[in-house]
Amino acid sequence: MIDIQTLVREHIKTLTPYSSARDEYTGNAMVWMDANENPFKGDYNRYPDPKQGRLKKRIAELKGIDKSQIFIGNGSDEAIDLLFRAFCEPNKDKAYVFTPTYGMYKVSAHINQVELISLDLDDDFNLPSLSEIQKKATSKGLLFICSPNNPTGNTYSLDTIKTIADGFNGIVVVDEAYIDFSDTASVVTHIASTPNLVVLQTLSKAYGLAGLRLGMAFANTRLIDILNTIKPPYNINTYSQEYSLSVLDNMEKTYDEIRLIKAERVRMKQVLETLHNVKHVYPSQANFLLVEFKNANKVYQHLKLEGIIVRNRNSEIKNTLRISIGTKEQNTQLLNALRNKV
Ligand code: PMP
Repeated sequence: MIDIQTLVREHIKTLTPYSSARDEYTGNAMVWMDANENPFKGDYNRYPDPKQGRLKKRIAELKGIDKSQIFIGNGSDEAIDLLFRAFCEPNKDKAYVFTPTYGMYKVSAHINQVELISLDLDDDFNLPSLSEIQKKATSKGLLFICSPNNPTGNTYSLDTIKTIADGFNGIVVVDEAYIDFSDTASVVTHIASTPNLVVLQTLSKAYGLAGLRLGMAFANTRLIDILNTIKPPYNINTYSQEYSLSVLDNMEKTYDEIRLIKAERVRMKQVLETLHNVKHVYPSQANFLLVEFKNANKVYQHLKLEGIIVRNRNSEIKNTLRISIGTKEQNTQLLNALRNKV
């Protein structure tokens, strides 16, 4: 089994993390005069909990894992950046992605001066064969698997992901931003047995908290310790911690919304398939549909004039638009706009 210490950058191994005032004391003090805060009581006059203890406890319950296996970031984008900083030596290690996929892996790789190697998904957006992956992904670094994949909407099997991770000399990052809309189970069940596996999830999609910026990384404790060592001490603000906890304590609303979005996904696919300008609607396990049109640019412009913005993916996958599932009314509005005029 791979030893995670061999993958960490040398200077990170010996880093002494910043120790905040709140890190050093865990009792119930009456008077706080340690952090140069404003003493006059307000909702936010004190620094937030740097370890996000209560929030992690709730996430641990929901995910069936231990608190020590959770890192919380200012969106999953922060976790992606920290993974680069912990595990990729600039101009030496490499990052691997399966394209088309989420664009931030490439941006983060460039920011961190890490060469990005793209392996193509096949015409049905399946991963290349294991032997092909093993032949090409030979450097130490990060390998990203987005499942359900953005913008294609398909998932990859847990067994395949596990086998890729076992054969890779680096960290495999499985981005499950859309997992709550999927029938495929999360690969989080494999983190204990796979030391180089990191699972990313977010409250930005199914939980309706994109504006809050709350992303999570799940992995074995040693890997999570590394992320916690290098994160800014107060990366999750008080309001985000409290508000997200209140949402996670009352999951019914979220479950209802997921059910509605999934039902609308089915309806949208069915209706879109009947429209004359639609060539193909890809099956989706996420809260969006990738739709191939006869002329996607024209449809995109038409929808824009109607005040409806979708994501034009034509440059990556010819003649496709990615359409997020909206409310029933919004979806009907989009379908009418497509039906009537294009
Ligand atoms: N991963 C994927 C696959 C995404 O599509 C997105 C957002 N579009 C993110 C991560 C970013 O998530 P967050 O809002 O938690 O930074």
